[in-house]
Order: sequence, then structure tokens, then C-alpha cells
Amino acid sequence: MEHIDYVEAMAQINMDRFRELTEKYPPAYRDLIRLVIPIITYYYGAGSEKLLEKTLEKLRIDETNEENATFESLEKSCWPKNMVDKNAEEVGLMDIAAGVYNAMPILSVQNGSVVLDGELCDIFVEPLEYTHDGISNFIHELLHAMKSTRNQFEITTDDKGMQSVTARMGLFHKTHRLSVLEDGKIQLDGNDEQGNKSEFNRGIEEAINTFDEFVLMSRLLEIPVDSFPKDLQYIILNMPEEERRAGNDSDFPTGLRYLFTIYYYLFKDKKLDQRIRAAQLSGDPQAYNSLRKFFNSTMDNSQEDSWGELNVKMDEVLAWFYEHNKDQKLSLKSITELRNKKDNLEAIIVEYLEKAKIRDSKDINESAEEI
Ligand SMILES: [Zn+2]
Repeated sequence: MEHIDYVEAMAQINMDRFRELTEKYPPAYRDLIRLVIPIITYYYGAGSEKLLEKTLEKLRIDETNEENATFESLEKSCWPKNMVDKNAEEVGLMDIAAGVYNAMPILSVQNGSVVLDGELCDIFVEPLEYTHDGISNFIHELLHAMKSTRNQFEITTDDKGMQSVTARMGLFHKTHRLSVLEDGKIQLDGNDEQGNKSEFNRGIEEAINTFDEFVLMSRLLEIPVDSFPKDLQYIILNMPEEERRAGNDSDFPTGLRYLFTIYYYLFKDKKLDQRIRAAQLSGDPQAYNSLRKFFNSTMDNSQEDSWGELNVKMDEVLAWFYEHNKDQKLSLKSITELRNKKDNLEAIIVEYLEKAKIRDSKDINESAEEI
């Protein structure tokens, strides 16, 4: 892994501006964010400093004293009063996490149509403990926020006049159908007409974000403590020695850990990774399209959307892990189910990496011919 010169990375960014932007956060989070800013901007490269600035301009951090940041507590804290969630009774995925990044559109009705007035972006967390997991979890949520900053919400109208709002978190997209109720409130429905969740790419987004979290944690821990700014040294100093050394990642949710490995393989194709990053950080539909095209043309299955297929398979694996997260004992049936899902997913990855090799050898031959 390449080395980061922390002091130099720090010198290159406008820390005064970041100090200003982070003043509003609870002190423990404020100090941690200031500490990781140089590492994050160094890792994501050109343009990421501006992006992170924009993220912090709109991001709130709310501590909860409850056991877990559940969907209910989240909803109480930041759900706008003029909006109702049709599927509020579904607790969803959030009750299994120690922290949650959540973004809400601020909507209003004008001349009978729903319009976007603004956005609420929140990290909702338990009070920060300076342990490996505490810091790692928070970095994960902060990265989700950063990857959602640009082009976060979009309102569209279909040919029947039905409006929807789509929220983006990196490559992950979730759509809610909108309707205005008799009392004037706006109802959001996250299911499609068949009752299925209208979302895609949760799997790949979590995989990449967990990968990034891991890399950034390793970099944070390899920096000599005395090169940290003085007021931040205690973060690492307060961390038990064995945690610093071991990088105690055994508590990664198993599903994320597996998807993380899958992303590690895709990441080896630098040309793909470049396109993934461009789409993920910008939220630009054209960048996403070019990513999809690149993946599909490498796979060379002219008619098929292999990229879409890959993502459906990743989502299925992640959904399996979420579903079985609390199971003490797994039945043979569900283990077989997982094994099949993993086999299908891995088959696409293996095929892709082989075809990427062929693509690259062709590229070399072609450029040799041009010479
Ligand atoms: Zn996540």
C-alpha cells in the first residue's frame, strides 16, 4: 500500500476552511473529521477537497443515546412534518447498525406538483467511542455522505403524470413514488406497483464503501502519532494498543466483509475502477452510463446487460446477509441458498476479469499497430 505523508497532505489543504465547517459538530466527531480530512482527500485525489467541503456544508451529525440508531428514532429526528412514509412500519436495515447516514428531500406542493426545496443530510450515531470499530464505523458513514453530495435528489414525472423522487448514495439509487394526500401531506412510497422495493445497486455501493473504510483505517493507523496535530493526538493515543495494531475488523458484518472481497477483485481492473469512481462521486448519469457500457463491452455479450446482472447478484447476496443477520443457527436450506448466490456472482466476476485481460492485450496490440 502506498504511503501517505500526513504532514504534507495536511499542508496542501485549506484546514482553516475545514475548521470552520466542522465547528458545529459534537467535539469528538469534530476532531475525528479534522483528523481524517487529509487522508480522505489524498485517497480520492483531485477534486475531492471541494467535494468534502460541500458535504460538510450540509451534513448534520446527531447523536442518539438509544441502544441503536433505529429507523424510528431516525424518523423522529429528521422526517419533515409535511411528509409521510407509506411503508413506515417496515423497520428496514437501519436497526442493525451503530450509525446511519440518512438523507431526506425537503418537498413542497406548488400548483399541484411536488417540488424539491432542499435536502436534509444526517449522520445519526451513537456517541463516538475512540475504539477501532467506533472510528471505522463513523468513517464508513462519512464516506456515504461524501459520495451522495452531488446530484443527490431528482424528481421525475412519468408519462401518466406520476411523480417520483430518486435519492442517490454513490451508485445506489432508491426511488419513492409521490402522492399528495387529502390533508395536503406528501406521501412517499418506496415500493413499486408490484410491491417490490424500488432500489438498485445497494450491494456494490456497500462493498466499495467498506473497501474504502478499510483502506482509510489502515492509513490512519500507519501514521506516526506524533505527526498528528497536537489536539488530535489523543484519538489514537486513547485507542488500546492491541486495537491499533490488530485492526480489529472481526466485527464487520459478515455480508459486507464478503462483498468487500468481491470489490477487491473488481478493483484490480483499474480502467473499471476509474469509471466506477467517476460515477460514484459525481452522480452524473452520463458517467454512470459510460461505466455500464464499459463493463458490458468488456464482457462482450452484445445483447445482455451484464453490469445490471452483476449488480442484481450483489444485491441478492447483501439482502441474504441482512435477512439472516440475527439468525443464531442457519438451516441447510439457507446455507445452500447463499452458496448458490455466491457461485452465480463469482462466475460473473471471474468471467469479467478474464475478458478484461483479453481486452487489455488487444489494446496493447492495437496501439502497437498504430506505431
Ligand atoms: Zn454502509
